Amino acid sequence: MSRKIRAIYKKLFRAFGQQHWWPAKSGFEVILGAILTQNTSWRNVQRALLQLKKSGNFSPAGLKALPLKELSQLIRPAGFYNFKAAYIKEFLKFFFKEYRGSLPKMRLKNKDLLRAQLLSLKGIGPETADSILLYALDKPVFVVDAYTRRILSRHHLIKPQDSYTDIQGLFERSLEQDSKMFNEYHALLVKLAKDYCLKNKPKCQLCPLK
Ligand code: SF4
Repeated sequence: MSRKIRAIYKKLFRAFGQQHWWPAKSGFEVILGAILTQNTSWRNVQRALLQLKKSGNFSPAGLKALPLKELSQLIRPAGFYNFKAAYIKEFLKFFFKEYRGSLPKMRLKNKDLLRAQLLSLKGIGPETADSILLYALDKPVFVVDAYTRRILSRHHLIKPQDSYTDIQGLFERSLEQDSKMFNEYHALLVKLAKDYCLKNKPKCQLCPLK
């Protein structure tokens, strides 16, 4: 099993090359993107991020000072905007209380503590917490999403009832604890799912994993 997990990475990296994830200019932008991307397309997230940037409040302190209603209107393109605005506000409250709004300070803490803290916040589930840990804080945590599940189950590497933790454990046991590799591997799986391992009609004949 572990050998297959490593072999998939090699094949995908050879086929697609480096993916340069996460598509953001700062760790703070990664965090906002990770919250906004829940149940919506990345295109809608980009529209919401652009509105935040145009508003001139695109910083932890700027968004903390912004009234909740204004924040929710700015992120409207991402959908579920009232919920997501409340989640962002809750994250910011925690971020300033625990880390004075500083990502470098947050990075000094170990990943288990940070994961527990993030999971205790409203609106942050395992995938969002792990995306923040890996892509904003550079911690070696494997991010599991629906694409990962689809690809692995089609290759009979997981069972339908396997949990998020089971799948994450499979990757983390099979690979070196290397945040750069985890970063790249997740991004490669996303590319594979979007280009070949489509939900309804996988293009197996053209796929690097055929
Ligand atoms: S498209 Fe086919 S070969 Fe490629 S990952 Fe999906 S199931 Fe596997």
